[in-house]
Amino acid sequence: MESIGVLMTCPMSAYLEQELDKRFKLFRFWQFPQRAQFLKENCGSIRAVVGNATVGADAELIDALPKLEIVSSFSVGLDKVDLAKCKEKGVRVTNTPDVLTDDVADLAIGLCLAVLRRICECDRYVRSGKWKKGDYKLTSKFSGKTVGIIGLGRIGTAIAKRAEAFNCPVCYYSRREKPNCQYKYYPSVTELASNCNILVVACPLTEETRHIINREVIDALGPKGVLINIGRGPHVDEPELVSALLEGRLGGAGLDVFEKEPEVPEELFGLENVVLLPHVGSGTVETRQEMADLVIGNLEAYFLSKPLLTPVV
Ligand code: NAP
Repeated sequence: MESIGVLMTCPMSAYLEQELDKRFKLFRFWQFPQRAQFLKENCGSIRAVVGNATVGADAELIDALPKLEIVSSFSVGLDKVDLAKCKEKGVRVTNTPDVLTDDVADLAIGLCLAVLRRICECDRYVRSGKWKKGDYKLTSKFSGKTVGIIGLGRIGTAIAKRAEAFNCPVCYYSRREKPNCQYKYYPSVTELASNCNILVVACPLTEETRHIINREVIDALGPKGVLINIGRGPHVDEPELVSALLEGRLGGAGLDVFEKEPEVPEELFGLENVVLLPHVGSGTVETRQEMADLVIGNLEAYFLSKPLLTPVV
């Protein structure tokens, strides 16, 4: 397989890079600032693209690679891969489902606790020496609060199970009510937001779910409500979120993802009811290795004409 060209779109995992390098002819796209020229010179040998949640494979890249056969994404979300273009061109697509579910669900619960119990703010309080001048103020309880989940899939269900352990009633919204599901279903995001204390976004980013969190939903969640986003940044109309937080129309937010990440609205930096994370949902050593092994496993299966491990297209 050493002669098969694999294009990695951006730095994502040193381990994955090293393992791909052992098996394939690896091209590191970020090392070639003259992209058009690089593609012209190497498009004849590139048969696979490895992307992630930051840089995937858009129509322009797919069109520039006439020998492309497979896109193996180092992510479960495929909003950065032009799936329609892949289907049209007969390019196979794989992702990394399941292996990251626990980490992302853990982080969602961590954000709930961090926002309601002000864990990060309390930590800053101790470090800055303020404790010596008086106790930290009282915060809000998490156990028993109603958790509303948008997208009750792999990650959404794992969040629901964890929330249950905190005695939180769980309700959800997705396109269809799940048969035999014990959680209460609401047929719209606004109804879900009106009936929960904490609203968690855990659905894929598609044209339908872009700005699924808009002013109406934020107002339905209300001044005591908390928004948790571990999905994708563009799920949230960010200027609306920022003004709701600044005006006190929303109780708080825990955000792992942002609309224009790594850019984060600076207005949020001074708010103590907000916890901001740098898109680290799946960011543990263990999970990133499992994701890398799945990317490699899919590529090897494809080039050995075996069934793909986690096919999407
Ligand atoms: P999944 O198993 O496919 O679940 C997605 C769920 O979303 C499904 O239950 C689906 O249900 C629902 N859904 C799809 N379209 C919807 C819509 N238009 N409105 C409402 N619900 C909709 O995916 P997963 O493995 O749980 O991953 C979910 C997402 O999490 C990924 O796509 C990714 O963007 C994000 N993620 C983020 C991180 C991070 O680092 N922060 C890490 C991993 C994943 P229906 O089909 O019934 O609507």
